[in-house]
Amino acid sequence: HGFTREGEAWRTAVPTLVEAPTAEAMRALGEKLAALLAPGDVIIATGDLGAGKTTLTQGIGAGLGVAGPVISPTFVLSRVHPTTTGGPALVHVDAYRLGSFDELEDLDLEASLADSVTLVEWGGGIAEGLADDRLDIDIRRGLDPDDETRLVFLAGRGPRWAARQLESVR
Ligand code: ADP
Ligand code: MG
Repeated sequence: HGFTREGEAWRTAVPTLVEAPTAEAMRALGEKLAALLAPGDVIIATGDLGAGKTTLTQGIGAGLGVAGPVISPTFVLSRVHPTTTGGPALVHVDAYRLGSFDELEDLDLEASLADSVTLVEWGGGIAEGLADDRLDIDIRRGLDPDDETRLVFLAGRGPRWAARQLESVR
């Protein structure tokens, strides 16, 4: 039997796994990912403290052409990084201290959503309401505590992501 439209939607929900053995590799992964991104994209990054969400975001920022440093927006909750390349700005959000989607909405992200790439750290369970079409990224450590390798699961949700070649970031 061939692919149906439903089958295609299912396929895009299956995560692409990329291994990042070092922080440098994580940054490089972000840079490659940036090449696939477009204005209006929403990315939700999950993973424990120190998993590498901010490190990945720094790579995405570099790839998009953000000039300044991308540091964790832990206290400001959200920060807009313009680019010097004419590409979309990076809106970097830390939802760690937010308890609900209502609190996220208070940050007024909607105003910049369409023109920017919006990445929400700790967004799992909170930020899904921003967009049905989105890229969910889950970063995990492996079982060996001496191994710094991170396992990065990339899952594009919805038609917006169906045609993107997430495998190309490997
Ligand atoms: P998070 O934002 O998820 O809390 P950070 O990106 O701030 O995580 O921190 C990740 C830390 O782990 C950094 O100090 C980074 O240098 C280190 N690190 C070591 N190995 C890796 C790896 N393979 N990928 C990402 N970060 C790594
Ligand atoms: Mg972080």
